[in-house]
Amino acid sequence: MQLFETRQAIREAVTAARREGKTIGVVPTMGALHAGHLSLVEACTKACDFTVVTIFVNPTQFGPGEDFDKYPRRLEADLEALAPYGVDAVFAPTNEEMYGPRHSTYVVVEGVTEPWEGACRPGHFRGVTTIVTKLFQIVQPDVAFFGQKDYQQALVVRRMVADLDMPIEIRVCPIVREPDGLALSSRNVYLSADERRQARSLSQSLELAARLVAEGLRDPATIRECMLEQLSQHPDVRVEYVALVDPETMQEVASIDAPVVAAVAAFVGETRLIDNRLLTPAEPSSAGA
Ligand code: AMP
Repeated sequence: MQLFETRQAIREAVTAARREGKTIGVVPTMGALHAGHLSLVEACTKACDFTVVTIFVNPTQFGPGEDFDKYPRRLEADLEALAPYGVDAVFAPTNEEMYGPRHSTYVVVEGVTEPWEGACRPGHFRGVTTIVTKLFQIVQPDVAFFGQKDYQQALVVRRMVADLDMPIEIRVCPIVREPDGLALSSRNVYLSADERRQARSLSQSLELAARLVAEGLRDPATIRECMLEQLSQHPDVRVEYVALVDPETMQEVASIDAPVVAAVAAFVGETRLIDNRLLTPAEPSSAGA
């Protein structure tokens, strides 16, 4: 596994691999790697001949007052975590390498970026789509791996790749969770012990929604109320949104007669967490059954 810090060096390594006929996979990350990231890495090494993991805390996707400065950065530990996985290259550039002093070009996806994360974090998706485009331009992968943890982000990237004719397959991998249900996140390290306990409420509210749908409830407003009621029992949990949305458009649904995504974002103390879950209504039982 080789570490590259410049665009030119990683390009040369990828070009050499491609010349040998290898398929190229990329896993974009911001580092502070955990088992969620590593599940994407594993999927990539299985599917592709040459795996590039990128580690870059992208300043343009953080808003003013967000946690860009305190975001955990630990390249040494990340390289150790990646060592057993058969990764070929790690690309960990500096800010200066990625954004020149006169950088002024951004990629903007409309529509699907507007609600939820887009509304709570203005400019966030513009930063994501810009950096992902730049990483795709540099690495020129055949396949790129994203996590369902950031459901809307994966949808935005899919939209961008389709709209801009990028010849890249996007694969989305399932959410990896702690045993108690909390979705793994690099931001979980910010939580105090008490906040960590309360943070379970996000996944618990999604479990509740799944249970209600499995029991036959089809009204999104009622399900949303039950989720909010569950979350409100935790004093340090401040909900930003709870939504039941169409998996393709992120628009709220009026009824649940096809799979929907339940999505939640909340501050737990000072830490902003997101989670989601696909809710699939059971097929209506046939008459007389
Ligand atoms: P990040 O480093 O937070 O930008 O995440 C990099 C990639 O890892 C994104 O595609 C995330 O969706 C994915 N990811 C983060 N947490 C998880 C998780 N718990 N399970 C699966 N994928 C994850």
